[in-house]
This record gives sequence, C-alpha cells and structure tokens, in this order.
Amino acid sequence: MADFDYDLFVIGGGSGGVRAARVAAATGAKVGLAEEFRMGGTCVIRGCVPKKLMVFASEYQEMFADARAYGWDVQDGTFEWSGFQKKLHAELERLEGIYRKLLGNSDVTIHDSRATVSGTHEVTLADGKTYSAKHILVATGGRPVLPDMKNADLGITSNEIFLLPELPKKILIVGGGYIASEFACILNGLGVEVTQFYRGAQILRGFDDEARGLVSEMMIEKGVGLHLGTNVLEMEKRDGGVWVKCTNGSENVFDQVMFATGRVPNTDGLGLEDVGVEVGRKSEIVVDDYSQTKVPSIYAIGDVTNRVQLTPVAIREGMAFVETVFKGNPTKVDHELIPSAIFTQPEMGTVGLSEEAAAEQEPVEIYATSFRPMQSAFADRPDRVLMKLVVSKESRKVLGCHIVSPHAGEMIQLAGIAIKMGATKEQFDATCAVHPTISEELVTMKEPVRTA
Ligand code: NDP
Repeated sequence: MADFDYDLFVIGGGSGGVRAARVAAATGAKVGLAEEFRMGGTCVIRGCVPKKLMVFASEYQEMFADARAYGWDVQDGTFEWSGFQKKLHAELERLEGIYRKLLGNSDVTIHDSRATVSGTHEVTLADGKTYSAKHILVATGGRPVLPDMKNADLGITSNEIFLLPELPKKILIVGGGYIASEFACILNGLGVEVTQFYRGAQILRGFDDEARGLVSEMMIEKGVGLHLGTNVLEMEKRDGGVWVKCTNGSENVFDQVMFATGRVPNTDGLGLEDVGVEVGRKSEIVVDDYSQTKVPSIYAIGDVTNRVQLTPVAIREGMAFVETVFKGNPTKVDHELIPSAIFTQPEMGTVGLSEEAAAEQEPVEIYATSFRPMQSAFADRPDRVLMKLVVSKESRKVLGCHIVSPHAGEMIQLAGIAIKMGATKEQFDATCAVHPTISEELVTMKEPVRTA
C-alpha cells in the first residue's frame, strides 16, 4: 500500500474545508489544510458574519424613532463608521483565531499558503513543496465577479465594502440577488443615499413572487432608490466619483458603485483539469452525489461546486464527505428543503417551493396573510409582514413557507423542521398558537386565499 504524507489534504480554510478537516482528523486521519488568505473563508472574513454585524448596526436608526414612539426620550445619533469598522475587524480576527485554534486542537496541520493540485494524490504549495495525500478535498469557495463591461473596475464588490476607509454618501448598487438587496438595505439604514439597479422585473428572482414583491415595496418605503428594468450602460471616473449612464438614459455621479452581480467558483489555476477533474462551464468542479470528482481520490465541497452557495450547506457537504470516505458510511448530501434567510429590511425567510414553482408541479392551496405587526404599528410605521404557506391539495403537505417579517430568519429555521419532517397543513393547525406573536399566523390561517 502506498505511503502518503497525509490521509487527507484540504485546500481552502472556509466553513466547509475547516469542518471537513476537523471531523476527518477526529477519526484518526492525518490531515493537512492549506489556506492562502485568512482562515474562515467568505463566511467569516467577507460574507455572512461581517454582513450580519452590519445589518445589526444599520437597524438602530429605526429603533431610535421607535423608542421615542414608546415614550423614551432619545435623540437620533450619528453613525461612526470608523469606530464600528475597527470593532468589526477585531471581531473577525477573534473568530479567525478560534478557527485556527480549533484546527490546531484537532491536530490538523495548517499550511498558510496557496496550494494547487499537481497529481491525483499530490498537492504543491506556493513555495514548491509537495505533499502526497490519499484524498484531496477542494473547498476553495467562490468570489464575486464584475460584469463584462468597459470600466467595470471602477466599481467595488462585496469583498471591498467592509474595507472602505469611509462610508460613501451616495452609492449605486447593481444587481437584484441576495447580496445587492442586503447591502442596499444595510447602507440605507446607515444613512447612505442608496440607488439600486436591477435589470429584471423584480429583485430576488426565483423566490416567491408575493414575498419578494413585499420586500421590494418595503425597501422602497424605507428609502432605497430601487430601479427595476435598469442597468448600467456606461461608467467613467468623473467629478471625484463615478459617473454612470444607465439604460434609461439618465446620468448620475456616485461616490461608489458596488456590483453584486453574482459569484464564480474559485478554480482558476488550481491544476484540476490537468489531473482529470472535470470543470464545468461556470468554472465549477463537477461532482457526484457524494461530492466525488471524476478523479476518485479528489473530492470537492461548498461554493466551488456551485450547488447551493450557503455556509451550512458547505458544512453539511463536508460532513457527508467524511462519513463517506473516513467512516465507511456512504452518505449523499441532502439538498432538499434547505431553509434560508435574506437579511434585507424587512427580512425574508423561505423554505421549499414558491407558489409559482409549486403550482407548476401540482394543484396547491395558498394560505397567506399580510398585516401591520403590533410593534411597528404602535410606532406608526407602515411596515407590513407576510406569512404564507403553499399546501399540496392532494397530500396536504406544506410544500413551501415564505415569511417577510422582522426575525424571519429565526422563524424559518423552526418552520423548516416541521416542513422537512413532511408536516401537513392540518398538523400546522393542530399546533397551538403562541400569542401575541407574528408567527402565530402560521398555525391560524383557516381558509385558503386562493388555489393555483
Ligand atoms: P445572485 O446570483 O443571487 O444575484 C446576482 C444578481 O446580479 C442577479 O440579480 C442577476 O440578475 C444580477 N446580474 C448578473 N449579471 C449581471 C450583469 N451583467 N449586469 C447586471 N446584473 C447582473 O448572486 P449574489 O452575488 O447576490 O449572491 C451569491 C450567492 O451567495 C447567493 O446565490 C446565495 O446563495 C449566497 N448568499 C447568501 C446569503 C444569505 O444566505 N443570506 C447572503 C449573500 C449571499 P438576474 O436575476 O437577472 O440573473
């Protein structure tokens, strides 16, 4: 039997790679991990974590007004980006330290270096050192892309937003996905004048129409200058900012332009194709249900496979890989009924099929209610929430749940358990309401508002 330096070599120290390395090491495997940048990957360093902390920061402006409506004598403060940013980066450093410590405690050898695949059982580090490994796991994630247009590099991406020396007074955000919509709300809340261009008819394509409609309506209500069916035509550096001409002919100068126009898997220059790993049209590593590539010794998980670009999914793919390869228990990754949240303001939580997708599949009943929640109604804010269930007429199963509400992310995590278990509408109804809450509507909607 061949003698390898490592049983497993992981390339990429993000959520998926780190989890797989630790869990594999716990089985007694000898594990090495290479990371070229900072431990923690997109989620910890320039994604979910700093984004969520910015969401929290951005929500205070409304809270000051609400506090006054509830009888508190408070003044509107001003937001100090530099103070917040310092604290934010200290927190990310702390988290990075924890990741390193966890790997060290698990006896995973860390290589602070870029690594490429130089053989079916071999990786090469930037300094030329090579290591042999029985298995290689590629978990190199993805990166934001700028659109293919002249002067696109005058714009920034979500990578740079956390590093800006000062907040822009006026920003254009291009895109209508998770990242564009979340940052439009965050920056609006922090007092930045936000314009958002989305080329299509409605932001958050693919999500339930009614839910994304309410999110976009509320975003506009809260001050985001959302322009649908609009894109950037030309860009130039002008007047100390970026001059933009858009597809409807209007022109404007912004302090910053941020492109949130999608992400691509990090496969460039990894040497994958040279050893026989198939890389798809979107630069993604092609894998089977067990995350195995065309080369039996090489696996890939997380965003680099372009399956579902979410941290908890990458972690689960990493765990399933270890079950399969190191615990002798072949485990397919389950990509069904993944709950997720979009941290717009208002937040959206969603699991399962949209009304539109479900109606294509089978006859459905729609239970939905939209109302002004108690807390903000008392403060005279016009906010509305939406609670919606998409129910199979035949099996009675809840096929989809869509919530637009404060804390929708927290709610959908719990609703997701019931739906993953295959709960029927009648089982939802059999659950006693928690009163007075927003989420009690999920178990008190008696009549369908329509069938589809
Ligand atoms: P998305 O793919 O969600 O959105 C990209 C957006 O950019 C779409 O609206 C797309 O329009 C638009 N677009 C693409 N190309 C162009 C172009 N050339 N010109 C103008 N617009 C363009 O990507 P994101 O970058 O927002 O997010 C990537 C992934 O990261 C998400 O899919 C999600 O899985 C994950 N994520 C999850 C979060 C969460 O869980 N809360 C938060 C952030 C990211 P169109 O719709 O017309 O294609």
